[in-house]
Amino acid sequence: MVKKISVIVPCFNEENNLDEFLKRLNNSLNEVKLDYNIIFIDDGSSDNTWKKISSFANDNNKITSIKLARNFGQEYALKVGIDYANGDYIFSLDADLQDPPELLKEMIFKMKNENLNVVYAQRTKNRENFFKKYSSYFFYFIFNKVCKFKIPQQVSDFRLIDKKILNELKKIEENDIFFRGLIPWIGFKSGFVKFERQQRLHGTTGMTLSSMIDHALRGIFNFSNLPMRISFFITTLMIFIFIIISIYALISYFSGDVIRGWTSLLLVISFLSIAIFFILGLISEYVGRIYQEVKKRPKYIIDEKIN
Ligand code: UDP
Ligand code: MG
Repeated sequence: MVKKISVIVPCFNEENNLDEFLKRLNNSLNEVKLDYNIIFIDDGSSDNTWKKISSFANDNNKITSIKLARNFGQEYALKVGIDYANGDYIFSLDADLQDPPELLKEMIFKMKNENLNVVYAQRTKNRENFFKKYSSYFFYFIFNKVCKFKIPQQVSDFRLIDKKILNELKKIEENDIFFRGLIPWIGFKSGFVKFERQQRLHGTTGMTLSSMIDHALRGIFNFSNLPMRISFFITTLMIFIFIIISIYALISYFSGDVIRGWTSLLLVISFLSIAIFFILGLISEYVGRIYQEVKKRPKYIIDEKIN
């Protein structure tokens, strides 16, 4: 039986890119000789994106077009695609032709040949502007320092995954999704193909500074309890400091030479502060653990099972 590929394309104000995009994607799909379906998601565009992709779907029943009620952000548009995808391979890429659809053939080849579950397209040259480029380096650096697993540098949501990964992704119920972290978190075997990322064909980026910060924080807080640990360490440090202050106050008291009332005042302040910091430290640990629990992420993922 011929295998099927689902293509996921989040679109936010991409009206001028879509014709060219579909033409190039179709050529690329013809080359790989798989059955296919394409899922376009209009993430609350204010231009004619919906008009474009709904006409694509009307002309070709292998194309599904979905319009979101407002702009939810690329991550959530991708999530819609994951929920509706049912292929043996799932290919996600941007609609602005920064991610060349022609890379599909090489990615499929790599996946089959090396028996991989994920193939990331990794950019060799980063042509983004100075800020975007270095903020991304910085983010991956921090992420890989604070999280227990690594996420690959210079990859975006331009990737090919197989059915195994798709099924695991469909099971994940957390609301705060960060695919770039979740996919390496799931595990299995991954590999890379290299490409040169082009400039966006038409239009401007849909990423604002605030959505980038949001994205970065989501990544870190979702996969690391280090921020909570930092608060726990600060708390412990503060307790230690107040113990030293108390000892100092007592020593000064017994060696005479202090203004009346100074020692008792300092001791009261110190003990109160120790109590407050102690409780804050406890709370931060519990809140962190509650956060981990409410995400209901699967506890483990099985690769194979015999009998
Ligand atoms: N996108 C989206 N919702 C958004 C922002 C972007 O669906 O709120 C889509 C966009 O249409 C494109 C992809 O996500 O297909 C990447 O967005 P963009 O090109 O703006 O990001 P950049 O390449 O600048 O990081
Ligand atoms: Mg882009």
